[in-house]
Amino acid sequence: MFVHVTKNKDMLPIKIWQSGIEVIEEKCIAQAEHLAKLPFAEKWIALLPDTHAGKGMPIGGVIACENVVIPNAVGVDIGCGMAYVQTDIPVSLLRETMTGSGDLVKTICGDILRNIPTGYNHYKTPQNSDVLDRAKAEMGKYEADKELIPQIEEGYFQAGTLGGGNHFIEIQQDDEGMCGIMLHSGSRHFGNIVGQYFNKIAHELNDRWFSFVPSEWDLPFLPVETDEGKRYLAWMQLCMDFAYENRAIMLGKVKEIFTKHIEKHTGITPIFSDEINCHHNYAALESHFGKNVWVHRKGAIRAREGEMGIIPGAMGSYSYIIRGKGCEESFMSSSHGAGRAYSRTAAMEKFSVESVMVDLKKQNVVLAKNKKSDVPEESRFAYKDIDNVMANQQELTEPVKRLFTVGVIKG
Ligand code: 5GP
Ligand code: MN
Ligand code: MN
Repeated sequence: MFVHVTKNKDMLPIKIWQSGIEVIEEKCIAQAEHLAKLPFAEKWIALLPDTHAGKGMPIGGVIACENVVIPNAVGVDIGCGMAYVQTDIPVSLLRETMTGSGDLVKTICGDILRNIPTGYNHYKTPQNSDVLDRAKAEMGKYEADKELIPQIEEGYFQAGTLGGGNHFIEIQQDDEGMCGIMLHSGSRHFGNIVGQYFNKIAHELNDRWFSFVPSEWDLPFLPVETDEGKRYLAWMQLCMDFAYENRAIMLGKVKEIFTKHIEKHTGITPIFSDEINCHHNYAALESHFGKNVWVHRKGAIRAREGEMGIIPGAMGSYSYIIRGKGCEESFMSSSHGAGRAYSRTAAMEKFSVESVMVDLKKQNVVLAKNKKSDVPEESRFAYKDIDNVMANQQELTEPVKRLFTVGVIKG
């Protein structure tokens, strides 16, 4: 970790878990410097080893604010995160067992792709959602946000859907040869609408207040005591709960599909254990340095001492299950992944569909994806090297399990 300090004495330091400033893109540093100028930010800004420029604030960043929330410091996909479950099934069993549609890896991945909507697809009928049932009963009191109420109804069609881009479901192999299941998704279209809605409100209010935060920083804030601040926190929490439930529903479906095919073809019933479900785009009230602060983790996971978390790499590379070390220097946070090395556009120019497919095949990775044309965006080379990322955050987190992609479903 190194500390980036500028000559401006009103600016907080920026702590960066990287080898040096030269490895970080200028735009990312410029965004972190904006954060460091916010008067309600506490102590310092933390940039984790997977950091890169985002909307307003870098992804892989943490800011702790007193009495203030910043919608763009939560991220566009409110409550986005990862889920994991361990199985007692050896990967070799899946590879050795042939069905009518190839081995069990192919069969299971294909069945998941057919049963869990990906990309922009939703279910054709409304799904069960305890979170949305509660929302319907409770959110009506926020009269000012009545235009969001129909989104709750829409949400029922989105509960248990993956989404596109780098949202994924993976069957992985741990170092003992056993299968693990990992997935990445958030609050879907619902959370996106809520996020945009409140960012717009925050912009309007900051303009009206002649806020010291220039509009072009795209970091408008809401004091938590204001009506708008309270409403944002309520809707943000709802999106976080919906995202958590979305991942739980999908994990349940994947476990069912996994079990069905393994039982049918081998007679063995898998046992699942050690489930984890964690957010990496959110804000929460926590006590740090003797003060209650709103910790915004944007592409960062909480890593309190002993807390389990998930740090994925990329399809066709390693991913990690970690245990937090409770390091206050990062407000008890660690990276949420490897982080992008190339933007989507840059990756499309740099890598070809064919080269990515050849690379996956060479590594014996099964890819289940409806649209192949945008696969270069998700090449493992479009992301930073995960092992380098892990090496740069040893004081924040301890790896407890290493996993490699066996099969991956992408939107
Ligand atoms: P984000 O939440 O910022 O969209 O990305 C989360 C992280 O997931 C990325 O930084 C990357 O390291 C990781 N990732 C993206 N796609 C995949 C994938 O297909 N498989 C695995 N294991 N990790 C991925
Ligand atoms: Mn995410
Ligand atoms: Mn997401």
